[in-house]
Amino acid sequence: MFSDKVKKLLNEQVQKEFFSAYLYLYFSNYYEEQGLKGFANWFRVQAQEERDHAMLMIQYMQNNDLPVTLEAIEKPATPLKAHMDALKASLAHEQYVTQSIHTIYEAAYEAKDFRTMQFLDWFVKEQAEEETNSSDNIKKMELFGSESKGLYMLDQELGARVYAAPSLVL
Ligand code: MG
Repeated sequence: MFSDKVKKLLNEQVQKEFFSAYLYLYFSNYYEEQGLKGFANWFRVQAQEERDHAMLMIQYMQNNDLPVTLEAIEKPATPLKAHMDALKASLAHEQYVTQSIHTIYEAAYEAKDFRTMQFLDWFVKEQAEEETNSSDNIKKMELFGSESKGLYMLDQELGARVYAAPSLVL
């Protein structure tokens, strides 16, 4: 039922989701060093969500007797020179992940793999939310981040984000 292409892409997605978690932890650490604990919190929660995405991929594969190969995760290397840099890099990264999910969806569609398509529906929707959140952060930073009181308030707001387990249950 599963095409070789779908199997390969699902396995690669596990690594991409773990890399996302690693990338956001790197951003979180950067903001922690900058004294922006709210931003650090927001990205720490984001990293937890990305780990969840990887675990969901693994569980889906294992539920369907597909072997999972854990590949190496590269070191995050995005240069961070200004508070805005990680926010813009996040949006670009989410757009990349969206494309990656769509590529798996396309392969599943070609293989008439309706099960994988249905599994990926949640991820398609999730990616739309991820892009909106990343884009909102950039807009808020543009509006308020250039003066200290605005930056402080924004840090407070991002500090209120609380981790919630994914709504998808397999
Ligand atoms: Mg993800």
